[in-house]
Amino acid sequence: MKIVCIGRNYADHAKEMKAELPKEPIYFLKPDTALLKEDTFYYPAFTKDLHFECELVVRIEKVGKHISPEFAHKYYTHFTLGIDFTARDIQQLCKVKGLPWERAKGFDHSAPISSTWIPKTEIDLDAAEFKLFKNGELQQIGYPKDFIFSIDTVIAYVSQYLTLKTGDLIFTGTPAGVGPVQIGDLLTAELNGQPLLELKIA
Ligand code: MG
Repeated sequence: MKIVCIGRNYADHAKEMKAELPKEPIYFLKPDTALLKEDTFYYPAFTKDLHFECELVVRIEKVGKHISPEFAHKYYTHFTLGIDFTARDIQQLCKVKGLPWERAKGFDHSAPISSTWIPKTEIDLDAAEFKLFKNGELQQIGYPKDFIFSIDTVIAYVSQYLTLKTGDLIFTGTPAGVGPVQIGDLLTAELNGQPLLELKIA
């Protein structure tokens, strides 16, 4: 099982990161050891600037390679929310030196997800919104209609390079509002008003 993460898939987040808008999808991988299904995340010792990035997550339901965009919708049936935890200080070092991002993005438990999956038949992505709160204060609102690259486009693109397998997850990118967490914080996330994720930082 692998976790495919899309970078810069919302224009407002690309802007806050002072990054150019991508002309084709940008993706990176997190290993299966990044997955966290518990309600507590332990702040790692190697960073002093850990950021949340709340993202809509898609689960791949069947194996596929070279999936065409018009058939990509057949490869997923459910959505949930997750957090693409990022050691921003390490990521910045990697960017400056042109090094891979895995150390900043792929560490243990850097991908907490909700255990509740919502059937896509219940979610209209053109109208959907998700929100991330820190200690009850709103930090991020994401509208999947604002994706630069749709889920189907992303699946078609990524599957040119990687075989997608049942159980693989795709983190679809984060909207603006990313920010730091501290030990003691509580992150909560909701999709269309439905609470899906509650995560203590310890
Ligand atoms: Mg992200």
